[in-house]
Amino acid sequence: MSLVIVGSIALDTIETSTHSVSDVPGGSTTYCSLAASYFAKPHIVGVVGEDYPESVITLLKDHHVNLEGLVTEPGKTFRWGGRYAENFDNRTTLFTDLNVFETFNPALPDSYKKAEYVLLANIHPGLQHHVLDQLESKAFVVLDTMNLWIDIALDELKSLMQRINMLVINDEEALMLTGERNYGKAAAKLRDMGPEWVVIKKGQHGALLFHEDRIFAVPGLVLDEVLDPTGAGDSFVGALIGYLAQSKDLSFDNMKLALVFGSVLASYCVEDFSVEGITYLEEADLEERYDEFVIMNQF
Ligand code: AMP
Repeated sequence: MSLVIVGSIALDTIETSTHSVSDVPGGSTTYCSLAASYFAKPHIVGVVGEDYPESVITLLKDHHVNLEGLVTEPGKTFRWGGRYAENFDNRTTLFTDLNVFETFNPALPDSYKKAEYVLLANIHPGLQHHVLDQLESKAFVVLDTMNLWIDIALDELKSLMQRINMLVINDEEALMLTGERNYGKAAAKLRDMGPEWVVIKKGQHGALLFHEDRIFAVPGLVLDEVLDPTGAGDSFVGALIGYLAQSKDLSFDNMKLALVFGSVLASYCVEDFSVEGITYLEEADLEERYDEFVIMNQF
């Protein structure tokens, strides 16, 4: 048992300029665990309502996701809706119906407490603290967050930063947290807050890794078609920690590979709605995209 993922489990409604889907699998844990499953066996903690489709449970089981920490509560599953502008650069939240997620109190089963790798996927920082309080091991902890928590739970987020090893955030969140538009200065300030590793995601433009005095840049793949960017960040960080949990190597060079595989899963994610793009992928699919990254970066 080495990888634990704690976050949200949702049924999403997504509207783009050309399509709309409703009550499709979503939530940070769902994307993260499916993406991680290509490398390691994720053990998830989450809550769903009685209406959660059995088909999604089957999908997770098919991907060898351990569901011992998944609780079903009376009531409805967390629902979230978002609408994208035509260029996908802007997303408006249509609704956030917390339902059973409102009283979510993540409890780690005993078998999870000695995890070596922990992904605190997007949930309230107070709950993320609670997860770390239950650990009995010295795990490598990766934190994902969102603008909402920077707005309403900044103190808890800042104290959490001192308990983690890696922060993965997007460029807007980095600006919100540090006041810096310059990536180098923002990363330095973020590392001063606690984590020795910082990843700044730049949407379709890729991501930057900062550690000690070293920087690595992974580009975004140029894709023929993007259908739904929801969960791209979660797929990225899920695959990243899955790769680390599989390789058990925290060297800078291995971290570069983790970022590339994160980008591979993110690229598949955005090509279809919900989690469709990151399910039932073959090893050859991952290798094909990995090779595209290698070719794109040779000069
Ligand atoms: P991303 O596209 O990476 O921002 O992730 C989108 C996912 O985050 C969706 O599947 C939503 O269900 C989920 N989500 C939206 N709002 C929240 C929230 N406040 N807390 C946790 N998860 C959320």
